[in-house]
Amino acid sequence: MSDCIFCRIINNEIPSNKVYEDEHVVAFKDIDPLAAVHIVVVPKTCCLHFHKTEDNILAHIMSAIKKIVVEQDLVDKGYRLVNNNGIDGGQTVDHVHFHILGGEKLGSNLTG
Ligand code: AMP
Repeated sequence: MSDCIFCRIINNEIPSNKVYEDEHVVAFKDIDPLAAVHIVVVPKTCCLHFHKTEDNILAHIMSAIKKIVVEQDLVDKGYRLVNNNGIDGGQTVDHVHFHILGGEKLGSNLTG
């Protein structure tokens, strides 16, 4: 069994609230939401960082995000995409992922 919490979600070893899945990507509600809508989008192939992730996988993630923001009814009022990397970037889960935040007016502070 993997130590990676997102791999365990992908493999259905622990529960999650999935909102989207295809052959390369899974998206689920963040367990500790920072906005009314907070979804985490992860590739099924575990890779630690954005800059190490294959371009074709990143392209597939972006395509999935475009579908998810429509499905989640975020496109009219807007949303934010966040990708944290490494210690300085505030990454806490060692599996590359993108946050979709929306469903309310978000603050303007990008550094948290
Ligand atoms: P980051 O800080 O960018 O690495 O984001 C990791 C995110 O994963 C945080 O927002 C956590 O709340 C979220 N998270 C951690 N464990 C789970 C889980 N079991 N289910 C859903 N989200 C999780």
